[in-house]
Amino acid sequence: MSHKVAIWIEQENNDILPIGLELISETRAQVQDSTHITAIYLGTELNIEDKNKLRKCGANEIVFIKHERLSKYNTQDYTKAICDYMQTRPDVFLIGSTLNGRDLAPRISARLKTGLTADATMLEFENQIDKLLLLATRPALGGNLFATIICQNHVPQMATIRPNIFAIRETEVQVCNNHEYVPMLEVSNDVELLETEILEDKHVDLNKANVVVAGGRGVSTMFSELKRLSNQIGAEVAASRAVVDVNILPKDRLVGQTGTTVRPKVYLAFGISGAIQHIAGMDKSELVIAVNTDPKALIFDIADISIVADAKIVLPLLIKELEIL
Ligand code: FAD
Repeated sequence: MSHKVAIWIEQENNDILPIGLELISETRAQVQDSTHITAIYLGTELNIEDKNKLRKCGANEIVFIKHERLSKYNTQDYTKAICDYMQTRPDVFLIGSTLNGRDLAPRISARLKTGLTADATMLEFENQIDKLLLLATRPALGGNLFATIICQNHVPQMATIRPNIFAIRETEVQVCNNHEYVPMLEVSNDVELLETEILEDKHVDLNKANVVVAGGRGVSTMFSELKRLSNQIGAEVAASRAVVDVNILPKDRLVGQTGTTVRPKVYLAFGISGAIQHIAGMDKSELVIAVNTDPKALIFDIADISIVADAKIVLPLLIKELEIL
């Protein structure tokens, strides 16, 4: 029996966000070849490059639900269009745990009277004869333990998953069918999108940064230097909870289990001990460079380059060197 997994492909200005590809890649890597993966895209346009990316990551089918009112995310129309599609009864339905995904998923699950595991950080699929079982793991009890949740008797089994947990991988080319249709949307709309204002924000979302300069308690008095360094090398500044808890940086700069998960090319960690809750948010970084006075600091266990030194000496030297370049 062929199992079915559906994945919401979120878009912004007609470009798909990486989370959809991350979820397709991870699902394809875990399920049997016979499992059918459907990418569900809502909007007005779906470009050929994005279609190819979806196919290369392992989608067997791209369903393009096309309507003028779906050009930008809005709760009512998206919920209605997706719930109608869910009559196809996939075993599993996955949604990225983005701002919009967190809004959409509970509404769909309530309307379909099914269970939802929110904000999962790990997924596992169990192929059973008559169904595909989803095991979604997420932090529970304030992050003190991880709970694996199974919505055994629900169809579809739903989960939202944090961005940046899974790598985008290409797989052997699948046969990929395209379907496009215009949905029936409700005429009366309680919510109307009047205008979208893009706020001037020179910060890049942490989870989109290529280079992150992170500081912990050991450098809590040195954030102006860390900001200077990050300006020099085009990085984003982040912090451990010890720093965010005392309001040196806002919560959106927190990396870890209770903050953001990052996957940059380079992660520079200054004065961070490497507690498990911090590591959970940055251990997928391509290159980790850590500076710590304590040679036994846990951060060195995952660092590619370990510098046992006082950041108060290293940081100004680094900034000076970069100024000369
Ligand atoms: P510390 O552990 O105090 O480490 C400071 C480090 O700086 C030490 O290793 C020290 O050797 C070094 N140091 C000191 N001076 C210098 C110097 N001059 N130069 C170089 N190195 C120096 N934490 C997170 O970060 N993210 C989370 O999402 C998160 N979630 C949590 C959820 C729960 C439920 C709990 C219980 C905790 C959570 N924490 C989280 C907190 C976490 O357990 C640690 O307490 C926190 O990460 C420690 O931050 P730190 O490494 O900056 O500070």
